[in-house]
Amino acid sequence: MEKVVIIGTGCAGLTAALYTARANLQPLVLTGTQPGGLLTTTTIVENFPGFPEGIDGYELMVRMQKQAERFGARVQFGTLEAADLSRQPFALTVDGEKVETQTLIIATGASHRHLGVEGEHLLENKGVTYCATCDGALPMFRNQPLVVVGGGDSACEEALYLTRFGSAVHLVHRRDTLRASKIMAERALSNPKIKPVWDSVVTEVLDVKQDKVTGVRLKNLKTNTETVLDCAGVFVAIGHLPNTQLFKGVIEMDPNGYIVPKKGSATNVPGVFVAGDCADHFYRQAVTAAGAGCAAAMDAERYLTASNQ
Ligand code: NAP
Repeated sequence: MEKVVIIGTGCAGLTAALYTARANLQPLVLTGTQPGGLLTTTTIVENFPGFPEGIDGYELMVRMQKQAERFGARVQFGTLEAADLSRQPFALTVDGEKVETQTLIIATGASHRHLGVEGEHLLENKGVTYCATCDGALPMFRNQPLVVVGGGDSACEEALYLTRFGSAVHLVHRRDTLRASKIMAERALSNPKIKPVWDSVVTEVLDVKQDKVTGVRLKNLKTNTETVLDCAGVFVAIGHLPNTQLFKGVIEMDPNGYIVPKKGSATNVPGVFVAGDCADHFYRQAVTAAGAGCAAAMDAERYLTASNQ
C-alpha cells in the first residue's frame, strides 16, 4: 500500500513529490496524459525565480522531476481511471491496475480552452499561445500587432499585459460587451493601444504555409462579413477547464469545476489534498502552483503522522 499518491506532474505535482519524497514517504507520482503539465507547452519561462536567463518550460519540468526522483519519488507514466474515496485506504484504478493509498494529492491542473479553428494547433508556439504572462515578452511579439481572443477578465488582463510589447492589441470578442469585471473592462477599453473588435470570431489562424502567425481570418457574427487582420501573435484567453471530472460529486468543487479546499490544501474528504491549477482559477502561475504543491505535501505528511499515532 502507498502512503502518498500524487496525480499530476506539473509544478504542483512535482513539488508535492519533492517534499513528500524528502519526508521519506516514497510517493507514487502519476503523469496523466500530459507529463510535465501545461508548462511543457510553452517555450521560455522567464518568471520562475532562480533562472535569470529564463528556462525552457520543458527543461524546467524535467529538472523538477529529476529533483523529486533524487529523493525517492517514483514517477510513473499512468492515468487515473477511477478513484474510490469512500473507504480508507483509498482504492485507485491506474491504467487498469489497482493501487491502494493512505493519502491522495490531486494536482491534475487545468487545460486551456481552445478555439478549435484551422491553423490554431499547427501554429501553437509559432505565434499562437495561451499565456501572455509566459510568452508575451518573446522577441517575435515586440512592436507587432497582436490579437487577444476572449471577453473575460483573463482576456482583458492578457491584453493589458501585452500593451507593453505589441504595437497594438486587438481584442476580439464574440459579443459587443465584455464579460469581464467592470474595472478590468474599463481599464482595457480605456487603453489607447487596445482596439476592441466586437461581435467577431476567429475562423482561421494564418498562415500555416509560412509556419508562423501572420494574421487571423475574422467573421463578424452580425453582418457575416469576413476580414483578415494582420498580426504576429494570437493569444487565446477563452477560459480554462479544470481537470477534475473524475472527482465530480465526491470532492467539493465550485460551479466551474475548480476544487474548493476546506482548510489549507485539505479537501472535504480526509486524506485527500489538492494543489495547483485544478483548485486555482485566479493566479495560475508556475510558482504559485509549486507553492501549493509544497503545502499539500506538508498537509499530507501531517495527516499521515496524526493518523498513524
Ligand atoms: P471567462 O470569464 O469564462 O471568460 C471567457 C471568455 O471567453 C468569455 O468572454 C467568453 O465569451 C469567451 N469564449 C468562451 N468560449 C469561446 C469560444 N469558443 N470562442 C470565442 N470566445 C469564447 O474566463 P476567464 O476570463 O479565464 O476568467 C475565469 C475566472 O477567473 C473568472 O471568474 C474571472 O473573473 C477570474 N479572473 C479574474 C482575474 C482578475 O480579476 N484579475 C483575472 C483572470 C481571471 P462570452 O462572454 O460570450 O461567454
